[in-house]
Amino acid sequence: MDTCAQCGAVSETPCEELFQQLLALDHSRQEPWGPLHGVAVACYRLQHPASLTEGSHVFPLELLRAYVEGGPEAARRMTEHARRANSHRARRPEHTVTAPRSEAPTGFAFTIAEVAVDGGFPADGYPGRVRSWAEATLAGWRG
Ligand SMILES: [Zn+2]
Repeated sequence: MDTCAQCGAVSETPCEELFQQLLALDHSRQEPWGPLHGVAVACYRLQHPASLTEGSHVFPLELLRAYVEGGPEAARRMTEHARRANSHRARRPEHTVTAPRSEAPTGFAFTIAEVAVDGGFPADGYPGRVRSWAEATLAGWRG
């Protein structure tokens, strides 16, 4: 068993490996994984902030807030809106964004290891586990 230095997951399988398995399920576009793809990626990236470039935590945090408050439909609308606005968003000045990487949180109450359960991300209860993952991620970033 290893403990992830970033999210705090205790798992035999490294987080990165679990994440690749989850992406494969997401890309199958099947229920319940496919519709929660954007939320899952946001959770993973925010719980592994070493992979974040400056300012790139802003959209995933907004997405998780929309998801926790408004459900999967709100998250889906936001992802689509961002996709349409992407060229505009890329030109937005980055100085509006703070929180350097050194301030990023580590050690979350609910991690990808809990979402994976036995490592296979079972469909049964998956949406509920993703919700706990999103809530723990937001709680960590709230400080
Ligand atoms: Zn981790």
